[in-house]
Amino acid sequence: MTQPAYDIAILGAGPVGHALALLLARQCPDPQRIALLAGTPPAATGPAREPGQDPRVLAMNHGSRVLLESLGAWPSRAADIRHVHVSQRGRLGSTVIHHTDFQVPRLGSVVPYAALHATLHAAVADSGVTVLQGPSAQMVNQDGAGVEIRQGDTHFRARLAVQSDGSSGTDLRREYDQHAIVTTAYATLPRAGWAWERFTREGPLALLPHPLDARAYSVVWCNAPERAAALSQLDEAAFSAALTEAFGTRLGRLSSQAARHVFPLALNARRTQVQGRLVAIGNAAQTLHPVAGQGLNLGLRDAARLAQALAAWSNTPEESPNPLLAQFANARRADRLITGGLTDLMPRAFATGLAPVEHACGLGLLALDAVAPLRAPLARHLLQGLRV
Ligand SMILES: Cc1cc2nc3c(=O)[nH]c(=O)nc-3n(C[C@H](O)[C@H](O)[C@H](O)COP(=O)(O)OP(=O)(O)OC[C@H]3O[C@@H](n4cnc5c(N)ncnc54)[C@H](O)[C@@H]3O)c2cc1C
Repeated sequence: MTQPAYDIAILGAGPVGHALALLLARQCPDPQRIALLAGTPPAATGPAREPGQDPRVLAMNHGSRVLLESLGAWPSRAADIRHVHVSQRGRLGSTVIHHTDFQVPRLGSVVPYAALHATLHAAVADSGVTVLQGPSAQMVNQDGAGVEIRQGDTHFRARLAVQSDGSSGTDLRREYDQHAIVTTAYATLPRAGWAWERFTREGPLALLPHPLDARAYSVVWCNAPERAAALSQLDEAAFSAALTEAFGTRLGRLSSQAARHVFPLALNARRTQVQGRLVAIGNAAQTLHPVAGQGLNLGLRDAARLAQALAAWSNTPEESPNPLLAQFANARRADRLITGGLTDLMPRAFATGLAPVEHACGLGLLALDAVAPLRAPLARHLLQGLRV
C-alpha cells in the first residue's frame, strides 16, 4: 500500500490550526509531512472574512501568551490588562481583580486577530510545514489506516485529520439571542491597563485596552439581534450616547467614530472531539459566547494538549494513534466543560430580567469582591485555564 501523502492534515488555518502546526513541527522529524490547509469556508456558511480583515481583538491570558511566545508567534503590538473590573448595570455588586493579587506583571494581553494571524502565518512559513492554499477543505472518508481529504478538485490521503476550521457541529447548541457589536471607542477619563466587563440585561459589554492605540478601548457589546442591528446603524453621536449610557460614567463619556461589526453569538459544541482518525480542536470543537474572552485561549489549550499527546507517535506514524487520541479527549473534557459552562452561564444569569436572580448575581459579585479566596480560583481559571 502506498504511503499517505501526509501524516497529519490540519483543515483550517485560523490561529488554532496555525498554533498546532507549529507545535507539531517542533516534534516531528519531517515537518513537511504535516499539511496545513488554508482554505476558505464553504459559501453556505456565510460570507467569509479574510483573516487579515478580521476586526476582532482578542484578550489572551497569561498561559496563551507564554505558549505563543515560545512559538515565536507573539504579535509585536499588544496591550496589557493589569486590572479587570466586573459589574452589573442597574444592580449592586462589582468586583476588581488586580495583577498584584497573583504576583504577575499582567492578567492578560489584548492583540488584534489580524496581527496574531499574520504572525502565526509567518512563523509557519519558516517551520517547514506544508501549507496548501486553496478552496474549502474537508475530510470525505476514513478507514482504519487513515483519512481521505478533498480540497477543491484535489484528493489526498493522510494518516490523521485535525479539524480546525472554526465550525463546530451541533451536538450541543444554544442560541443566546444576542449579537456582539465590535468597535473602538475613546473615553474622556481613560484608565491605562484596565479592562471592564459590565453585565447588562441585554448582554455583557466589555471594554478592553486597545492594542494599537493607547488612548482607545476595544468594545464588544452584546445585545438582542434587533437592537444590535439598530445600534449598528445609528450615527456616531447617537451610538456614543447609547454606549455611555450602557457602560456608565466610570470612564467619563465614551465616543466612537470607528466602523461597527456585528457577530451573531451561539454556543456550539461537539460532545466528543475525536471520531476515529478525525480530531476537532478550537472553535471546530466548541464555539463559545465571547464573555470573559475564553474561546481562543481554550482552543490553544486544545492544540497544546493534542501536540503533547502525539509527541511519541510523530516518530512512529505507521502505528495507530487511536489510544493517544482517546487520552487526549479524556484530558480535555474537564477544561471544555468548565470553560464552556462558565461562559454559557454568565451571559444568561445576568440577563434574565428577574430581580431575585439579578440580586443573587449582584451578591455573588459582592462576595467575590469581599472574599479573596472565592475570587482567586475563578480568576486563576480565566487567567490560565485548566491544564492537564
Ligand atoms: C466578538 C468576539 C470576540 C471574541 N473575543 C475573544 C477574546 O477576547 N479572547 C478569546 O480567547 N477568544 C475570543 N473570541 C473567540 C475567538 O475569536 C475564537 O475562539 C477563535 O478565533 C477560534 O480560532 P480557530 O482557529 O479555532 O477558528 P477561526 O478563528 O474561526 O479560524 C478558522 C479558519 O478556518 C478557515 N476555514 C473555515 N472553513 C474551512 C474549510 N472548509 N476549509 C479550510 N479552511 C476553512 C476559516 O476561513 C478560518 O481562517 C471572540 C469571538 C467573538 C465572536
